[in-house]
Amino acid sequence: MSSEREFNEIITGLAKKRGFFWGPSPEIYGGSSGFYDLGPLGKLLKNRLENQIRSSFVRANFWEVECPTVSPAIVWKASGHLDGFIDPITQCTKCEQIYRADNLIEEQSPGIKITGKSIDELTEIIKTHDISCPSCKSTLGPVESFNLMLKTRLGLDQEAYLRPETATTTYLLFRRFLTFFRDKLPMSVFQIGKAYRNEISPRQGMLRLREFTQTEGQIFILEEDEKNWPQFEDIKEDVLPLLPYQTQQKGESKPVKMKMSEAIKKGHFQNPAYAWCVHLTYSIFKNMGFSEEKIRLRQHFPTERAHYAKDAWDVEIHTESFGWVECCGIHDRGNYDLTRHQEFSKEKLSVSVNKQPVVPNVLEIAFGIERPLFCLLDNSFQPENKVRDTDWLKFPPEVAPIQVAVFPLMNKDELLGPAREIFDSIIEAGFIAQFDVGGSIGKRYRRQDEVGTPFCITIDYTTLEDGTVTIRDRDSMEQVRIHRDELVATLKKVVRGLIRFESLQ
Ligand SMILES: [Zn+2]
Repeated sequence: MSSEREFNEIITGLAKKRGFFWGPSPEIYGGSSGFYDLGPLGKLLKNRLENQIRSSFVRANFWEVECPTVSPAIVWKASGHLDGFIDPITQCTKCEQIYRADNLIEEQSPGIKITGKSIDELTEIIKTHDISCPSCKSTLGPVESFNLMLKTRLGLDQEAYLRPETATTTYLLFRRFLTFFRDKLPMSVFQIGKAYRNEISPRQGMLRLREFTQTEGQIFILEEDEKNWPQFEDIKEDVLPLLPYQTQQKGESKPVKMKMSEAIKKGHFQNPAYAWCVHLTYSIFKNMGFSEEKIRLRQHFPTERAHYAKDAWDVEIHTESFGWVECCGIHDRGNYDLTRHQEFSKEKLSVSVNKQPVVPNVLEIAFGIERPLFCLLDNSFQPENKVRDTDWLKFPPEVAPIQVAVFPLMNKDELLGPAREIFDSIIEAGFIAQFDVGGSIGKRYRRQDEVGTPFCITIDYTTLEDGTVTIRDRDSMEQVRIHRDELVATLKKVVRGLIRFESLQ
């Protein structure tokens, strides 16, 4: 546990020093926990992850939308968040500190089952197990429910809430989607945008935020199409690291590498459309740069799921900082959401099947971007060693905040001119690049290693003679000379991983 803590501090320290994230924000006023600022490199990294997510969804035939982040109370009444999106809290009777009751019970009496327990039952558990205030050891008050939504108002007096998820705002567009998709189901859409949760004393830094960026993909689908999903054919031979709940019941925490077709046959997935969503999510996380060994797909126990959910799997990423971290949920939400919004809005949210009105089901992929961002920093960290006198970051080239750095060997006009031209051509090709003239080449390499830039280009006096430049590879620290005319095409290949750097030599 202590080594996990230390590692988290190393990552957070590095993130602050090198401009990935700062906080809690606003720092100069003491900071509010659960809020962070992204520095220049954090913002670049987040953009990279968003682009990978976006292109993964678009390739899978999803369309992107954007909805308001504030909605009137009735939306959240209908969605169930007003009554159900709550944490059980308890206050110390002496020092008045507020805690999450379930967390306190887990910390002080591990092993007690708390999922699904009512407020009164939690109060009883605190009494009978002598759970006390962690800071002053005094008695705790009765457990109360605390709604996690941030309340605001529209105009003078209309009650409204900042959205706790993007999903609900996507569902409200169902009728518009029907028109856009020419009444053809299934319809696949996604949204990337801010969501807000008023967490009680969030303590895990970037992992538990009050304001975060969510990505949620939704497929509106009829039950018969869930069973008959032709795209499953494309992925049925793929092997994924699965941890079904029956495996967890046996005390196993290691995923089983299993073909998707086999997982269906064994009944781990109820239908091929849902299984395909789990596969899509896995591919999104791979595209964000996570290696296979760091990913596992964990099924929820039936008792863990929301009452309306038919099935739920999480993507978990292994970190040195916190062990396995839950990063994404994939849910079969049934037709709960559309049914509720139909009831509250009095608008028809059904389609006609054999002349009967049918409310479609929803398959959902939901995750916040900040968690994978933290996990990627954690996974990319490389400590200094004999070869390198600095901690460095081994980002996969495609998601590195800066992909290419360009150095004129010296700050001289005859080198600056061609270096600028080469830099411009790299930017034009769509890379994020940095131009650096400060200090020795060794120091410049070191600075780029610290922020995880995979490739550095140096323009020297040989460039003026024969038009070649050097490319230096971050991981091997090797250099090769190639002609400047081939530079952009070569960079495209090595950044995308289409060819290995070693093959250039
Ligand atoms: Zn206390």
